[in-house]
Amino acid sequence: MSNVSEIFGSLVFNEHVMKERLPAETYAALKRTIEQGRSLDRSIANVVANAMKDWAIEKGATHFTHWFQPMTGITAEKHEGFLSPQKDGTAIMRFSGKELIRGEPDASSFPSGGLRATFEARGYTAWDATSFAFIKDKTLCIPTAFCSYGGEALDKKTPLLRSMELLNKQALRILRLFGDTATIRVNTTVGPEQEYFLVDRALYEKRRDLIYCGRTLFGAKPPKGQEMDDHYFGSLKDRVSSFMHDLDEELWKLGIFAKTEHNEVAPAQHELAPIFTTTNIATDHNQLTMEMMRKIARRHGLVCLLHEKPFAGVNGSGKHNNWSISTDKGVNLLEPGDSPRENAQFLLFLAAVIKGVDEYQDLLRISVASAGNDHRLGANEAPPAIVSMFVGDDLMEVLNAIETGRDYDQKDKVEMRIGVHTLPRFTRDTTDRNRTSPFAFTGNKFEFRMVGSSQSIADCNTMLNTIVAEELSSFADRLEGAEDFESALNDLIRETIVSHKRIIFNGNNYSDEWVAEAESRGLLNLKSTVEALPYLLKEKNIALFTKNKIFTETELHSRYEILLEEYCKTINIEALTMLDMVKKDILPACLKYQKSIAETALEKKQLSSSLSCSVEEDLLSKISGLVSCLYSKTGKLESELLNVKEESDSKAQADYYRNVIFARMQEVRAIADELEVLVSKEFWPYPSYGELLFSVQ
Ligand code: ADP
Ligand code: MG
Repeated sequence: MSNVSEIFGSLVFNEHVMKERLPAETYAALKRTIEQGRSLDRSIANVVANAMKDWAIEKGATHFTHWFQPMTGITAEKHEGFLSPQKDGTAIMRFSGKELIRGEPDASSFPSGGLRATFEARGYTAWDATSFAFIKDKTLCIPTAFCSYGGEALDKKTPLLRSMELLNKQALRILRLFGDTATIRVNTTVGPEQEYFLVDRALYEKRRDLIYCGRTLFGAKPPKGQEMDDHYFGSLKDRVSSFMHDLDEELWKLGIFAKTEHNEVAPAQHELAPIFTTTNIATDHNQLTMEMMRKIARRHGLVCLLHEKPFAGVNGSGKHNNWSISTDKGVNLLEPGDSPRENAQFLLFLAAVIKGVDEYQDLLRISVASAGNDHRLGANEAPPAIVSMFVGDDLMEVLNAIETGRDYDQKDKVEMRIGVHTLPRFTRDTTDRNRTSPFAFTGNKFEFRMVGSSQSIADCNTMLNTIVAEELSSFADRLEGAEDFESALNDLIRETIVSHKRIIFNGNNYSDEWVAEAESRGLLNLKSTVEALPYLLKEKNIALFTKNKIFTETELHSRYEILLEEYCKTINIEALTMLDMVKKDILPACLKYQKSIAETALEKKQLSSSLSCSVEEDLLSKISGLVSCLYSKTGKLESELLNVKEESDSKAQADYYRNVIFARMQEVRAIADELEVLVSKEFWPYPSYGELLFSVQ
């Protein structure tokens, strides 16, 4: 492998390249735009575009694209050539400032949740100069936001950028209150840990459920699963490690610092963690990481499964969204500092997070709601559907002391006073940190663990930024008007803890006791996507988003529609795939196997009438019982699918998919899985769980 520092960022038009290739004043103007979110002057854009084009062509690029993140949750791009024909039959390579700043993809092929009906079909993309352009597949990719002509966001990046601006504004107000006049910009930072499965490509291709749905719709439990715990931190298999090397290298070229890669709990499951960066860049990088994982796996004869639950009965995959707030001076605001002032400031930010998470549990839950993630959240697996926060024992002690006004350090017998006391550093103890919590404080950041492995992290970070900014704003309102800052601060933090500590839970989130306890605390338990989504349109949430200009009411409605539609489509495809697999493969295989058993019995009888055929008869009767059951349940599923009422509203449709179709699919699966156990391997049409999970050596 070549020198890492040489290849790192080699395909990125980053600050280093800009500085090298742009005239000093253009560079300075661009940097101002990036740092302060100003709009870019056309003449400057022309210079930047030209430098970008030259750089990209030197790197072998022939095309450019506005790379954006529509509501489908994945990225979209429409390539255009640099080549521009001239009148004299020659051609030149061109790329203008106008093309850099703005693109006009056809918006009609992307989900808009009704926005298209009310507004124009056309949309435009606008360069997000805070995220560097890069080269992928010989194409210069320009990270962009995607809006309708009316200005409505049609993507996941626009609201994320809006929420970052909001948080910046409100956090600065707080910092000023603490006498910080130096900080110019506050950003949220994110390091998403990405889980995924790798399976052998040849086996994958034998399963239409994996191909169409990304998850297995059938599959009996293998004799060995994850019970031995021998995979986690076990040595990497050769194919996996060569995949990881390749992946690292490709990601490094794109300026993504993939740092740790190790096995996960389940067999064939792995994890990649990048070094954290600014939220919108982390979001772009995570999208690129997922794309590269898929692509590079194929080069190694593997397939990367990013679905939240590829295999029933085996751990699913998530994404741990490590989130923090930091200043342009590099100060992490969620890290208790060295002085009482810094500590007081930390406690105020912490209070904002506590209050925000408690008041907007529903929004955090919605930000991770999808048909795929329903298999994890609230379904006997990490983490639960109930949103709560883990702060750890040390910090809890501090919060308790503040709440009761009691001694904090028993030895000193001094009352805990914000702005006077120095807090201990809450060093994270990896041995006993709570892995069951959906939202855990880990020393200097929060780890939001409910995100599904295939989901864009734009949504959850938009929510986190918005709810925390909202609380900071109300805190700032109150403190700015206070006569005595210190006592107002004390009161504010104490009150917040008293009113919102119900959201803090340091115990085992997987236990049944917690479900009951959470209910008695009045916490939400939104078990499925269809239960969660309607909360998006609660009055308090509409008020939050519209007041802070993150979403207009129209945008919120459109997102609600898109999410419901996506849910229905997913279940519909799964159900159709299931029918197809049963009718084309599973039933015929069972019938053939039955025939072979019957023939064996017949041959035996012909040989000698005294030979016993009790095994054949027993097997035949078991299988034929199950087959007729499978046949009838499949028939029911089929007619229930025909009964989907296209005209009914999307919520009613989604409920039907959840309560009728999905429920029936579970029944069909259960029978097919029983049959898999009985039917000879020779006849069963699909690779088994055992083969899939232990296929990669
Ligand atoms: P773990 O034990 O969960 O692996 P790490 O400290 O290794 O914990 O960090 C996990 C992830 O958290 C990494 O992606 C890392 O970059 C990210 N992270 C660390 N500090 C921050 C921060 N201040 N803001 C956002 N993400 C962070
Ligand atoms: Mg983690």
